[in-house]
Amino acid sequence: MKFVDEAVIRIEAGRGGNGGLSFRREKYIPRGGPDGGDGGDGGSVFLEACGQLNTMIDYRFTRHYRAQSGQKGMPKTMTGRAGDDCVLKVPVGTTVIDDDTGEVLGDLSTVDQRLLVARGGFHGLGNTRFKSSTNRAPRQTTKGSEGEIRSLRLELKLLADVGLLGMPNAGKSTFISAVSAARPKIADYPFTTLVPNLGVVKVEAHRSFVIADIPGLISGAAEGAGLGIRFLKHLTRNRVLLHLVDVSPPDGSDPVVSAREIIEELEKFSPMLASRPRWLVINKTDLLDTSSVEAETDRIVSELGWTGPVYSMSAVSQQGTAKLCQDIMLHMEAQREREEDDPEYAEAEHDAQLAMQAEGRERILTMAEQRRLARKAEQEDNDEDYDEDDEAEVFYVE
Ligand code: GDP
Ligand code: MG
Repeated sequence: MKFVDEAVIRIEAGRGGNGGLSFRREKYIPRGGPDGGDGGDGGSVFLEACGQLNTMIDYRFTRHYRAQSGQKGMPKTMTGRAGDDCVLKVPVGTTVIDDDTGEVLGDLSTVDQRLLVARGGFHGLGNTRFKSSTNRAPRQTTKGSEGEIRSLRLELKLLADVGLLGMPNAGKSTFISAVSAARPKIADYPFTTLVPNLGVVKVEAHRSFVIADIPGLISGAAEGAGLGIRFLKHLTRNRVLLHLVDVSPPDGSDPVVSAREIIEELEKFSPMLASRPRWLVINKTDLLDTSSVEAETDRIVSELGWTGPVYSMSAVSQQGTAKLCQDIMLHMEAQREREEDDPEYAEAEHDAQLAMQAEGRERILTMAEQRRLARKAEQEDNDEDYDEDDEAEVFYVE
């Protein structure tokens, strides 16, 4: 399954500075020759791949970028200052498309890779350039040329950084809505009820992550083996899993029991995935008073024998959600840094991802086979075969 994060921006390179028209005027030199300098070149617009970014969210807030124009040429044959380039940082993996022509201008696949996307205008010539034996006082100059202007579509295949686990009604969708700066929607996706819920969380400029709930993982809820397989890559790339627990389920069930169920399913799905960083998030704290929340949290933690991080929040009233998102961001950044600094660790991470994908794939296929047999037994015809290669694209809802 492919989620595509995209943004359309308009970029303008700087115009070239006009050539200067000027003559020397100095005391005792009544007829100085021409001394207009050339203009400066306009700045260009570049895109640069940056390892710290992982979504297009910043480009959905600011959509217009321009490089500086060159200054015009000055007297005393002074060249105008060149305009500064505009360098836009984009996530590694960004595909750059000219939005008007559909032409792919390039892929930014390695850190620090740069792509020129709009060339700055060329400088104009000052009148000094036009001096000749027959024309000692040229008034001729040329203008700087315009910088290129383009609409770009930036596309990025998104992978979810944070995965959400939890019973139905734990508040996963509510949480994603509450913290998302943009709420992607899946277009052209056939299994509407099984669509993974995605959100881009913007902590601040240039710091964002992708959060997704994880459908098709838990056997009881896994009508969508196809979805599970397509989602697998997202699942295994998650840098942290959040396990949401309803502190006070409306049916009076014990949160500990349902939390255990989720953990068991996770372990069955992939022992490797189950050993990844996982945070317990006690949700719906608004339903109880503070001391009851604390007591209940303590009970859940101790009965689960939970040793990992614990958070509590109310997704509905958005209490505790900002703190949680901050910590997720910090955790992700620390992980990323470690991977950059330590190639061995990065390789081990990569291998772990592959191993998780293999485990998950096997489990999903087993579940699919079991369901197929069950269906056969029920004499149902299985006309709703999933097309596993079907790819969904995600677009933001404005
Ligand atoms: P999901 O199945 O895990 O995606 O759960 P939903 O996000 O759909 O939430 C299930 C129900 O719980 C909805 O009626 C939500 O309004 C409610 N809910 C979610 N979070 C909270 C919360 O923090 N406090 C309260 N009181 N209700 C919540
Ligand atoms: Mg939901």
